[in-house]
Amino acid sequence: MIKNHPDADLLAEYTAGVMALAPTISVTTHLQFCNSCKSTVKALEELGGEMLEQADAVPVSDDLLEQIFACVEEDETSEDSLLTRPTTIDEVASSIPAYLQKFLPEGKLHWKFLSPSVKVAPISVGETVHELALHKIKVGGKVPEHNHLGKEITVVLKGSFSDEDGVYQRGDFMVREAGEIHQPIAATHEECICLSVLAAPFKLTGLKRWLNPFLSFSPS
Ligand SMILES: [Zn+2]
Repeated sequence: MIKNHPDADLLAEYTAGVMALAPTISVTTHLQFCNSCKSTVKALEELGGEMLEQADAVPVSDDLLEQIFACVEEDETSEDSLLTRPTTIDEVASSIPAYLQKFLPEGKLHWKFLSPSVKVAPISVGETVHELALHKIKVGGKVPEHNHLGKEITVVLKGSFSDEDGVYQRGDFMVREAGEIHQPIAATHEECICLSVLAAPFKLTGLKRWLNPFLSFSPS
């Protein structure tokens, strides 16, 4: 059962469409698992619609309308190309939500070594403010203890892991600001796959920065 959800502020930001792409992907991924947050988003959307209806109409110039329509068309095109994109052939891809698979690169995922227990596969979505990646912790694997410096979001996609504060299972959504040190350990019967979003900039460099999410979990 999912115990960790995006907070109300995050869901409001998400519904209003003012969230950057990488965190938006992480919230949508959580919604694939969580009916409770799905209902909240639906209620917020309805509320937003009513507020728009009640707002006084403001005259809009023809130029602005053209610009808006051009943007909408662009969006539709990119959505189409995303849907028709060849799918990733990877053992891990088959175990994650179909929605998220659309963002994975064609062919094999590029898993990089972080430690004997942890591998990371970055996902490029053309965003500069955040970095998105999949993490894979092997069965019973311990993540090296590490400090982290930026805000991070993690969604468990497969399996589970535990740390000093609790157990995190499929669908759980965690946000952590900079600070605490934790040492997550994957469950002993199954590998653990997580989606992570890291906010730039990082003081850590190279692949080590991808260790950050695993030191930041809390049962918030
Ligand atoms: Zn939820």
